Parts: sequence; structure tokens; C-alpha cells
Amino acid sequence: MDTLFSPQFFALPAELRRAIYTYFIPDQIHLSIREKKFRVSTCVQHDKDGGPDCTDRRSNKIDLITNPMSDPICGRRLRSSWGPHWRCEESAMQMREDHEIGYNITMMALFLVCKRMFSDIMEMMADIAVVYINDLDTLRSLVLISSELESRRSSTSILLVSILPNLKELSINLRLPLDTYKALDNTSNSAGSESLLSSVWMGLPLAIEHLSKLRRLRIWLDHEEPCSWSIVNERAVLSPLASLSNIPNLEVSIDLAKLHPKWESPHRHFTEDTPLLPLAIHRRYRQRYYGIETGDGSIRVEHSPDFPVLYELTSLGMTMEKVEEVERRSWKEGEDPIQFWRDFLLTPW
Ligand SMILES: [Zn+2]
Repeated sequence: MDTLFSPQFFALPAELRRAIYTYFIPDQIHLSIREKKFRVSTCVQHDKDGGPDCTDRRSNKIDLITNPMSDPICGRRLRSSWGPHWRCEESAMQMREDHEIGYNITMMALFLVCKRMFSDIMEMMADIAVVYINDLDTLRSLVLISSELESRRSSTSILLVSILPNLKELSINLRLPLDTYKALDNTSNSAGSESLLSSVWMGLPLAIEHLSKLRRLRIWLDHEEPCSWSIVNERAVLSPLASLSNIPNLEVSIDLAKLHPKWESPHRHFTEDTPLLPLAIHRRYRQRYYGIETGDGSIRVEHSPDFPVLYELTSLGMTMEKVEEVERRSWKEGEDPIQFWRDFLLTPW
């Protein structure tokens, strides 16, 4: 290591150093705060980790419907505040337990060579990697430090100061307590303007504007409860972000769960027939299983699908689009499609 990264190494053209670094630097990383320090960890997400049936979170094959206490590891993963990046959270925590020598040992070794190497790698990493943030504390720090960058004030975080000016692609994934969203809902009794999410959201557009090299921003949102995503007042939550659309050369997309027709409201949600947010919204199928902590501290798994609740009809040959259409029409006609299909399937032939 000492031989390869001698001072002569830094005399190499930046393009050559970059070519060497790309062998070590992952193309997706997580930024987080642990024990009051910023940490970088590699994104180790698999393709199906965020699948609605949560099959990749299982640690055994026991039926969870009849044995909801049979897979506590799965239950813990279903509760991960990192959502579809639950595997990355486990990896990051493992790194902490192993004194930071974990998944990407080469990257960590490079950080420790010298300050210049650290700064060099961080700048390069921001240039080539997608950076994920999965919690409000880290996002709040990004908002604050981005403002400091603009006013050229010193910052206590060398890591963020090295990364932010070159950041190209940022993905904010937040799986928050339901009450955090309710605090932004003017119709609730919560102290909305005092909430952490509110203060972070208010500062985010200006902070993002200061990241002059940022080209893609993705915001993924969910809450932790088994009840429908549609309980959230989307318009109250996302309105502070509308001004992101005014930032030139920045592509912004918002990733939300599909709306449930039973609770869908043009006053609270971005529906197809009502004024849209001036940002692209993508809808996904939400996770259908939840880890519920019981009174004695153990975790049971609860099956609680959001729309479409009747997704299992696809196993009978119906397409998911058709299932959604049938279920949506039933709700609009005042019928409960779940009861209808339950009665239908239980009717003797
Ligand atoms: Zn990840």
C-alpha cells in the first residue's frame, strides 16, 4: 500500500488516479451518522430486496400466516428504517461491530492512507457513486453543511465537505414513523412547524440548489405502520419540495406507494385527476408484511397488504392491472372487494 500510494501517485494525472480508484470505489454508497460521526458504507442491496412480498427478508420457510412468530430475523428486517436497503443497514451495523473493518476492507484501508488520499477518494466517490441517505439526522446535516459551503464557513465534517461539492446523484430514502408525517398535516393537532421533517424539508430546496453538480435527486418515502400509505396527507408533506422543480439541470423524482381507493382524496393526495406536484411521481407496490413488536419484546410478522389488497388473484391468472381495475371499481361503487372475493371463494361449487 505504501509503495503504491507514495507521493508520486498524486503526481499522476487525475484521469489515471480516477481509473485506479474505480477498482475500489463502489458505485452506490450510504451516508449515515453513528455515534455522532459521519460514516460511509457500501450499498449491498440485491435486486429483489425491496419486493412487496418481502421474500428476500426471510430466514426460513415456515408459513408466516399460520406461524407469525416463526421468523424473528425477518420481523426485524421488516422493521428496518432503511426500508428496501435493510441489507445495507445490517451491513453497516456489522461494520461498526467489527471496528469498521467489514464489507469493503479495501475502501476503508484507502481512507486511512493519508488525508489527501481520503479527500481524493471522497471527491471521486461523489463524482461516480449514487449517495443514499436513509435518516433525518443525516439529511439535516446535509442541509446545514450545504448552506455552510455556500457561505464558505468552516465545517466540522471533512467527509461531507469533500463529497457535497461534487455530488452528482442523491437518493433520499425515508421510512419514518407515521406521526412524523402527521406533524406536517395542518389538519392534525401536532405541532407541524416544530417537527424535524418540517425543518429539513423547508431547508432542502435551497441546500440542493447549492449542490451545483447534482443532476439527479430521488426521494423515496414510506411510513412504518401496517395501515395504508394513503393515511398520509401527501399534499401537506410534499408541497415544501415543489420549488425543487425550479432548479436547472436537475432531474427530480418522487417514489411513493400506490394510493388506496378507499382513502384516496384529491385534497390530500396527488391523484391523476387533480393538480399534480411539478415533480415526477412514481407509484410502487408497498411491502405487504410488517414486523410488530409484542409486549414481551418478541416480533411477530403481520400480513397487511396495501392496494391492491387482492393481489393474490394474479395466481389465478388475472393480471395485476386487472386486479387493480376490479378493486378500484368496487371501492368506487361502495362495495368492499375483499368481502366480495372472500364470499366468492367460500361459496361451494
Ligand atoms: Zn443500499
